[in-house]
Amino acid sequence: MILKGINASDGVGLGRAVCVREESLDYSAVPYSGKETEKNRLREAVEEFNLRTSAMAGRIREQAGPKEAEILTGQITMLADPFMLSQMQEAIDGGSCAEAAADSVLGMYADMFAAVDDELMRQRATDVRDIRSRLLSILLGAAGIDLSNLPAGTILVAHDLTPSMTVGLNKENVSGIVTETGGRTSHSAILARALRLPAVLSIPKALELIQDGDGLIVDGGEGVVVLNPDARTRAEYLSKQEDYQNTVAALEVFRDKPTVDADGKYYHLYANIGSAAEAADAAKSGAEGIGLFRTEFLFMDRTSVPDETVQYEAYHAVSKIMAGKEVIIRTLDVGGDKAIEYLGMEKEDNPFLGHRAIRYCLDRPDLYKVQLRALLRAGAEEKNIKIMLPLVTCVEEVRAARELLEQCKKELAAANIPYDKDIKLGIMIETPAAALTADVLAKGCDFFSIGTNDLTQYIMAVDRGNAKVEKLYSHFQPAVLRAIRNVISAGKRVGIPVGMCGEAAADPCMIPLLMCWGLDEFSVSASSILSSRAQIYRWHEKDFCHLTDEAMGLSTASGVAGYLKASVDQ
Ligand code: PEP
Ligand code: MG
Repeated sequence: MILKGINASDGVGLGRAVCVREESLDYSAVPYSGKETEKNRLREAVEEFNLRTSAMAGRIREQAGPKEAEILTGQITMLADPFMLSQMQEAIDGGSCAEAAADSVLGMYADMFAAVDDELMRQRATDVRDIRSRLLSILLGAAGIDLSNLPAGTILVAHDLTPSMTVGLNKENVSGIVTETGGRTSHSAILARALRLPAVLSIPKALELIQDGDGLIVDGGEGVVVLNPDARTRAEYLSKQEDYQNTVAALEVFRDKPTVDADGKYYHLYANIGSAAEAADAAKSGAEGIGLFRTEFLFMDRTSVPDETVQYEAYHAVSKIMAGKEVIIRTLDVGGDKAIEYLGMEKEDNPFLGHRAIRYCLDRPDLYKVQLRALLRAGAEEKNIKIMLPLVTCVEEVRAARELLEQCKKELAAANIPYDKDIKLGIMIETPAAALTADVLAKGCDFFSIGTNDLTQYIMAVDRGNAKVEKLYSHFQPAVLRAIRNVISAGKRVGIPVGMCGEAAADPCMIPLLMCWGLDEFSVSASSILSSRAQIYRWHEKDFCHLTDEAMGLSTASGVAGYLKASVDQ
């Protein structure tokens, strides 16, 4: 059976399905087996919780650092509270099964913490809710899947891929990823590319169609999944896999080459990363800098706000790894498709147009200044960090952020803490408002980076993660191309560098257009560095400008894409 989805991360993977399903924590059918039995069940579940949590903490300590691990060890301490445990035992004495006792007592504590108007208490509420669901899943035997111990040849099938799923994943045993939601620029896709795993997203009802142990082929380039393939199909895809591996190997010659076009003009080729750990991979992949560090992943992959030290350590680590090279760090881009539960953000009817990214941060100076201070400090030694604001729509937002940055500088200076006095402040151009007023915005900031993932979404009024409207979501739409051209030329007129960190920067058909308009910096996922360099390498100015003139004369996205593909594939 052939299942069609969205081609999100190149490569071909063959293996067996491991399905990650939402666990049901419904205990209404669990009988009460008497005081002693229920108390024993509770005690054993708490012991199991402690074992699993300290194992998880150990893995996170290795991968992310001691601060992150402390959150989990803190949960063990919370659950060891004798008063809390005695309340659960009392509930059992009163006739509740272990599940009901744990649910009611932990639920009561979570509500109590959540009601206090204090950030720390709200974080504690999130922790208690997390303890409750993990303890219930142990009691109910909904064991969950240990993603750090997957068998070789696993194809992970999930509703969505989240940053916390990728922490601790034993990736060497994973051959591919299939999800039920997400588009090419969704965060699932970005994570899959960062892991360099073939991925097909948005297969409707994948978790109903695919069962654990089913044979699967994932063709991430074509967006196709083959369910229970026969021997002939397997052989066909094994040979396709080999071709793909040969193509990747052939690109190795570009690893240590400079990024120049056929006329010898230089471009900057940077990498997009989502964690400090990815910076080393980016450097190894031949990245000449970091064009986008998505700091929200640092916030998403935990149960409470990372404090200034945790943030400083992450940004400083990247700054050190990339010493001598630029590191553009984007401030918290929360909201929209990136929910962070513990921040307690209100549900909105229109989250993509709502209280998100720079809007949210400017309304939470307490939270935002922690990040700005961490960034200023992290850049003190190497002086290679640049700060980038997400989702800017008007000059006032840039001014307000600059004002907070200046306050942070003063505070650090007063406390004698070293920081980068000359840190640059730039913005993402990812809204129609920013693209149309790029000339005005350029005068108030130090650089632009075009975020085509959102820019396409907002210009075309099309949800970037909705497979039903995917047809309209193309950076080759004439409206999107004109916006990009306008932004680059506005930046150039004022003399600030213009980069692109949206996924379009790695599209071989888009690269010649961007070269023609004078883009200074291409920032792509680490897995696309060498192919992008190879593309840039092959073009002469007269050819890429001719191609651009022709493409801009066409009136439809499909016409532009078809014309460019035919020319680039020649
Ligand atoms: C973008 O919108 O193009 C971008 C790079 O940011 P994100 O994908 O994180 O929204
Ligand atoms: Mg964006």
